[in-house]
Amino acid sequence: MRVLRNTLCAMALSLFTASAGNATALLEPTLHVKPQGVEGGGGGRVALTLDACGGKTDTRILSALVDNRIPATIFVTGIWLKRNAEAVEIMRAHPDLFELENHGGRHIPAVDTPRKIYGILSAGSPDAVQAEVESGAAALAGAGGPAPKWFRGATAEYSPSAIAMIRKLGFKIAGFSVNGDGGSLLGARETARRIGAAKDGDVIIAHINQPTHAAGEGVVQGLLALKQKGMTFVRLDDADGVGNDGTTD
Ligand SMILES: [Zn+2]
Repeated sequence: MRVLRNTLCAMALSLFTASAGNATALLEPTLHVKPQGVEGGGGGRVALTLDACGGKTDTRILSALVDNRIPATIFVTGIWLKRNAEAVEIMRAHPDLFELENHGGRHIPAVDTPRKIYGILSAGSPDAVQAEVESGAAALAGAGGPAPKWFRGATAEYSPSAIAMIRKLGFKIAGFSVNGDGGSLLGARETARRIGAAKDGDVIIAHINQPTHAAGEGVVQGLLALKQKGMTFVRLDDADGVGNDGTTD
């Protein structure tokens, strides 16, 4: 199972768009935060979002965030929450830095028709999508924190009808604008380059659950480069994020 989950994570942000011929095209929504602009007087504003799909915790990233006081929005699954109590405790101890949001109960793509995405079966029905969303929220509530307001599904792809349903359940859907680590499969150098190149208003996505991957080192380097440039980091609940495909309006 662990291998399967890791594969899901790894494939989640591949550059390839899943498409199954005659089936409804899936959506991979974008998200931006309000740019700081010139009048903001700083080096720009970005939101860092990190997925914790399953597996373990990349303490290189977690420590760097704490040590450098970089706020982040962490998308956690029920699976990850169960196995990473120590990391959750660290995040909860720094409520000024970490916002925990909903990445689903079991890391199953929020697509309500049966199909394969990167070779992995989708939730496959409206009920199964709802169960994935609600079980993720319940896991977070069970871990004792504020109720999540944002959802990001496994693979970050959705059917349009699933998007509408998730919005009805009360969640905004977190797309992104910078794919920082390519599903945690990129090398350190390319990951650092991508993250370090983020612009005012960007929402970065990367992973915090792959401690053995080189990408994690690049995440830290890229973030420190942004900080050095004077970039301000915001969390999704502190920024009026605007997504396309009906994900936030
Ligand atoms: Zn994931």
